[in-house]
Amino acid sequence: MPAGFPDFRLGSVLATSFTGTLSERHGTAVERIPTPQRLVDWLAVSGLAVESCTSDQLELARELREAIHAAATAAAIQDPLPASAVRVINDCSIRGRAAAVLTSEGSRQWRLGSASRVEDALGVIAADAISIIAGERDGKLALCASPTCRAAFFDTSQSRTRKWCDMNTCGNRQKKARFNAGKRKDASSAQ
Ligand SMILES: [Zn+2]
Repeated sequence: MPAGFPDFRLGSVLATSFTGTLSERHGTAVERIPTPQRLVDWLAVSGLAVESCTSDQLELARELREAIHAAATAAAIQDPLPASAVRVINDCSIRGRAAAVLTSEGSRQWRLGSASRVEDALGVIAADAISIIAGERDGKLALCASPTCRAAFFDTSQSRTRKWCDMNTCGNRQKKARFNAGKRKDASSAQ
């Protein structure tokens, strides 16, 4: 991994892993795909390897990412879906060319169109977002409880009570903040 770039936070759900390439949207935002090459890297580790990426394609990817974030957030809080976000998601889904293929081991992979364009990969991500937002998959859209994050994530836990987009980052930070607040309270009550 090239030094100096924020690492990826990969989850099991493609669309929300993608929206997670920008984190801390309500704090000090961290852009995890700052260059076209980092988008190429992210797509490769997500099973959507592309040939190359231009800065225009990176812009398009970010536009789709923020559209998915906006639509998933609205769906999580049962607001009407923003029309502009729906349009971007649909455009990307329509323009992408990709096919699902079955491996001999019985798992599903994506085969991008012959040119393996970024647009083809974005089509797969857009379709994944559509299946989640449309409620077709087993799980529930929710917003991260961290006030600086508020990322939309897909809760597939049995009880559907997951609070954080990511246990290792937001979950941990929240626990530490609570622990420190507790300590401060103990100190002031001891005076
Ligand atoms: Zn979070």
